[in-house]
Amino acid sequence: MTSCIFCKIIAGSIPSAPLFEDEQLIVIDDINPVSPVHKLIIPKKHIATLNDLSAEDTLLMGHLLLTGSKLAQTLGIAEEGYRLVENCNAAAGQTVYHIHMHLLGGRTFRWPPG
Ligand code: AMP
Ligand code: ZN
Repeated sequence: MTSCIFCKIIAGSIPSAPLFEDEQLIVIDDINPVSPVHKLIIPKKHIATLNDLSAEDTLLMGHLLLTGSKLAQTLGIAEEGYRLVENCNAAAGQTVYHIHMHLLGGRTFRWPPG
């Protein structure tokens, strides 16, 4: 997907400093953090929205979730609490149409979200 900003980051055509990378995903700092810890866990496979997932993505999505959980522990926010968030489509606030999981932590969050 040549027009996708996250595909460009994954391909290296937009420079980034991944905190973590493996064959399936990368983790980067969000450019506009909304909490002291705000990482993006991004699958290398271009999938536009959660609505576009299929059964073949089951292991990939589990890997994203587990990576978020492990990262929260590594970053020292696991005990106090954190959020793993995926926004789907406009009403939920999705702005980049390549799925990604936000890891948010380092402060107290309200519920329900705004
Ligand atoms: P969402 O609104 O759920 O689609 O999340 C997209 C996120 O990507 C936002 O939090 C943006 O701040 C973040 N973002 C957009 N462009 C970049 C970029 N080049 N590098 C890092 N984060 C980005
Ligand atoms: Zn993409």
